[in-house]
Parts: sequence; structure tokens; C-alpha cells
Amino acid sequence: MRDFSYLRAGSIDTARQAAALPGAMLLAGGTTLIDLAKCGVAQPDTLVDITHLKGLDRIEIGEHGATIGALAKMSHVADHADIKSRLPAISEALWQAASAQIRNMATIGGNLMQRTRCPYFRDPANFSACNKRQPGSGCSAIGGVTRGHAVLGTSDACIAMYPGDLATALVAFDAAMHLGERKLLVDDFFLLPGSTPDKEHAIEPGEMITAIEIPGSAAARRSTYLKIRDRQSYEFAAASAAVGLELEADGRTIRDLRVALGGVATKPWRARAVEDALKGKVLEPEAVRAASQLSVEGAVDHGANHYKIELAPRVVARAILKLGETA
Ligand SMILES: Cc1cc2nc3c(=O)[nH]c(=O)nc-3n(C[C@H](O)[C@H](O)[C@H](O)COP(=O)(O)OP(=O)(O)OC[C@H]3O[C@@H](n4cnc5c(N)ncnc54)[C@H](O)[C@@H]3O)c2cc1C
Ligand code: SF4
Repeated sequence: MRDFSYLRAGSIDTARQAAALPGAMLLAGGTTLIDLAKCGVAQPDTLVDITHLKGLDRIEIGEHGATIGALAKMSHVADHADIKSRLPAISEALWQAASAQIRNMATIGGNLMQRTRCPYFRDPANFSACNKRQPGSGCSAIGGVTRGHAVLGTSDACIAMYPGDLATALVAFDAAMHLGERKLLVDDFFLLPGSTPDKEHAIEPGEMITAIEIPGSAAARRSTYLKIRDRQSYEFAAASAAVGLELEADGRTIRDLRVALGGVATKPWRARAVEDALKGKVLEPEAVRAASQLSVEGAVDHGANHYKIELAPRVVARAILKLGETA
């Protein structure tokens, strides 16, 4: 492992100034960053420890929605009684992420900044071609083992899947992110790979995530996160869906629907075509299954990941129908 210096930030301003220096990186729970440093992907000269910053672990929730500080632990947010009752998809997404030990260490800000699990990206010693690590070097995954790679939002330069669960749920409910003075939608924070897969987030040097804001809504209150994976725990999604549903007073007609996909795209993937097809329609299985097919419009597979194109619409339909049963 390379030598690096360590700085414990005493204020948000100090942290931001230090993080703007070349070779500096913020350190929160360390559950991703230390792994990436060990495998040689992250090569920080300075680690700026933000874990002692006061007030950034607050969780505030009411009728209007929730504001969650960037240093709140995944486990605290998942287990918060009001998050469970008012934003169940957020709690469920966090509960199904990683392991209990990791959730106890890891923070919301760090979770949103996690990098892809593409095995070629994480193995620089054996695979030099990776446009995300080294722009212009090529992509070892295209033509390689692709079972876990994306089918939506890919480009000729990169097909890496975005692995996080929380961001998928945040995108479904129009959550926004505070980056100091700037606020932007979580959906806009994650960038498509295009020809610059090395640029994953709309964050600039000297910015840090300070909080996320999730608007309250009837659809967010009746919501769920369904995650399908190779094993029931400690595993990333093969396909997942964050879904929120609001019905009209008749208890059958869909007034509002939110759908976002995880595990299948290069960024958290809002499926607006499914929402638009079902809003105003009666909630019944045939219509839901047909509309759910729209979630993978434009999908492109690379062989071994073809199953995701069949799996994702089934996950979406199952999540919507499950919520319908709670009417
Ligand atoms: C074995 C394993 C399984 C996992 N499974 C899942 C899973 O199923 N689902 C899932 O969603 N995640 C999963 N994860 C990822 C895990 O959730 C992340 O490691 C964790 O959330 C990162 O948070 P952290 O606080 O430890 O971040 P750190 O490791 O401290 O930081 C991660 C990155 O974020 C940056 N950063 C940290 N805080 C901020 C901030 N406030 N502003 C700007 N940048 C910041 C750091 O500089 C670094 O680049 C898994 C991880 C492991 C190791
Ligand atoms: S898919 Fe992306 S991250 Fe994986 S090897 Fe190709 S360029 Fe690198």
C-alpha cells in the first residue's frame, strides 16, 4: 500500500478546502475507500477524515419529507421508526444492502459515492484496459465475463453496472442532494458513461455531500424496495425495483406511481415509461405486467447479462402488485 497523509477535518469548510487539493480524498466509513486503495484503484495522497464533523449525522423527518445528513450511518437510517413508516422503500433498500457490519460503519454520503463492482475495474494488476480507471485504455468487460454488467445506459466505452440500492430508491422519489451551497436532484448527480466513464458524479473538487432531502408524498408512504440477487444476503442486486403507489379513492385506479430500477443500468434508472403507462389506469395484473416491459426499453445485452432484460420487468411488476395488495 502507498504512503498517504491523514487529516482530521474540524469543520465542513476545512474538509472541503482540503479535499480540493490534488490527490486528496474524503474518508467517511472507509468501507469502500479502503478496499479501493488496497486494490490500487484509489491512490490518495491525503485522506481527509470527516467522521468527526458535528451535526452531519442528523435525521429529520416530518410531513414534508426527510432530510438526512451525509454522515448518518446506513443502519441508523434503515432502522429509524419514521423512515420505516413514512419512507419504507428507503429503509428497505438500506436493510438489503451489504452486511450488518458494513451498514454500522458506512455512511449515506459514502454510499452514494460508491464505485462500480465491475471486476475488471477492481483488478488493475491483471486488467490494464478500463476506460473508467484509465480513460482511453479500452474496456476489458466488453467481450469478457458480463453476467453482472448493465443492460441500460451503456456506451461503447463502458458497460459497468451502478451497484447501490439507496440511490435507486432516492431517484424514484425525486430526492435531492446538498453539496454545500449547491443542491441538485440525485438523478442528475449520477452521470451516464458516454465517452467519459471516468466521470461518474456531478461533483466538483471542493464539494462534498452534506445531506439528502427526500420529499414526502403519498406514493413514498406506500412504497417498497424489491431486490433479487444470487443469495439472500450480502449480495448486490441482479435486478431491483423501488416502487411507490398512490391509488384514487376508489382503491383501484392509480393516481401516482414511481418506479426506479437498480442492478441493471449504469446509473440508478427511473422508469418513467412504466409510470406514464399506468397512471390513471385500473391496477390489475395484466396491465401491470404489460407496462412493466417498458422498463427495459432500449436495453442492450452483452451475452451473459441477457437474463437481466427478462428479470427486470418481472421485478417491477411484482413490486407494483405487492403494493396493490396492501390497498
Ligand atoms: C462486501 C460489500 C458488499 C456491499 N454490498 C452492498 C449492497 O448490496 N448495496 C449497496 O448499496 N452497497 C453495498 N456495499 C457498498 C457499501 O454500502 C459502501 O461501501 C458504503 O456505503 C460506503 O460508505 P462509507 O461511509 O464507508 O464510504 P467511504 O468508503 O468512506 O467513502 C466512499 C467514497 O465516498 C467518498 N465520500 C464519502 N463521504 C462523502 C461525502 N460526504 N461527500 C462526498 N464524497 C464522500 C469518499 O471519498 C470515497 O470516494 C457493499 C460493500 C462491501 C464492501
Ligand atoms: S465496464 Fe467500465 S468499469 Fe468495467 S472494464 Fe469496462 S470500462 Fe472498466
